[in-house]
Amino acid sequence: MEMTDFGGAIKPVEEHPDYKIAIIGIPFDEKSSYLKGAAKGPQAIREASTVKSGNAWTELVVNLEEDTVIVDLGDIDVRGKTIEIFSRIEKRIGEIVEKGAVPIVLGGDHSISYPVVRAFAKKFNSLDILHFDAHPDLYEELYGDPFSHACPFARILEKGLAQNLVQVGIRAATGSQRANASKHRVRMIEMKDIKDTLSLEFSNPLYISFDLDSLDPAFAPGVSHHEPGGLSTRQVLAIIQGLKARIVGLDVVELNPSRDLSGITAAAAVKVVKEVAGKIVKGDKEEI
Ligand code: MN
Ligand code: MN
Repeated sequence: MEMTDFGGAIKPVEEHPDYKIAIIGIPFDEKSSYLKGAAKGPQAIREASTVKSGNAWTELVVNLEEDTVIVDLGDIDVRGKTIEIFSRIEKRIGEIVEKGAVPIVLGGDHSISYPVVRAFAKKFNSLDILHFDAHPDLYEELYGDPFSHACPFARILEKGLAQNLVQVGIRAATGSQRANASKHRVRMIEMKDIKDTLSLEFSNPLYISFDLDSLDPAFAPGVSHHEPGGLSTRQVLAIIQGLKARIVGLDVVELNPSRDLSGITAAAAVKVVKEVAGKIVKGDKEEI
C-alpha cells in the first residue's frame, strides 16, 4: 500500500511510537445507499497527498513535518459482518485515542462515523461534534437498515454519544430528519442561511466529521450524491481556521474516486486534512 506523504510530513510509525496524529483508512462502502465506490477513498486520498506539487506547511503557518509527528497506520480490516467490522473499528480507533493521539480517519462511506464516535465517547465524557454534510444523516433507518450511511448521527444521538451536534452545509433535509434534529436539539446550519463566514465555538472536546458532499459539486464532484448549492472549499477552510475548540479527531468520508475524474475532490480532502491537522498543532501550542 502506498502511504501518505503530505509534503513529506508522514513519519514511519516504527520509529515514532509516540506519534501525535495518526492517519488511518477505513475502505468500507457496504452501507452506501446509492453508488458504491467510497471504499476506494482512503487510497485515492493517500495518492493525492503524495503529489509533489504540495508541501508540509499549512495556511496557519504550521509545518506538519517539523511541528508535530504524523504517522499513517494503514487501513482497518473491513472483512466480515457489519457488527464485527464496527467493533473492530471502535477498538482500533480506541487504541489511538487512549494513547492521547488524534486519529484522522479516511473513509469509506459515512456509516463508519458511528463506530468511530463510539470509541471517542468511551474516552471523553462530553464530546461535541461538528458535522459537515449536504445531508443531516439523521434517518431512523434507510431501506430497513439502521446502519446505513444516511443514519450515523441518529445512532450517535440516540446513544447519547454527543453533547452537542452542529451540522453545517445542510441542503437536503427531509421532514422526518428535521423532527429528529429538533428532538435531539441539533444545531442545523442550513446552506440557505449561510451568509457570512461562520464563527463556531465548542466547550467540549470536538470531533469533526467531514462528508465531502458538504462541498458544492463544482468543487468536489467525486462523491456519490451530487447536491448542488454547497460550500466552497474556501468557506470550509475559513470555518476550520476560525474554530475555537480543542479538536480531538476528524473523519473525511464519502470520496468516490470513480466520479473524481480530475482528482480535485481527493485534493480537497487532502487540503481539509492538512488544515485540520495544522489547527490541532496550533491548538496544542497555544495551550502551552
Ligand atoms: Mn453524510
Ligand atoms: Mn452527504
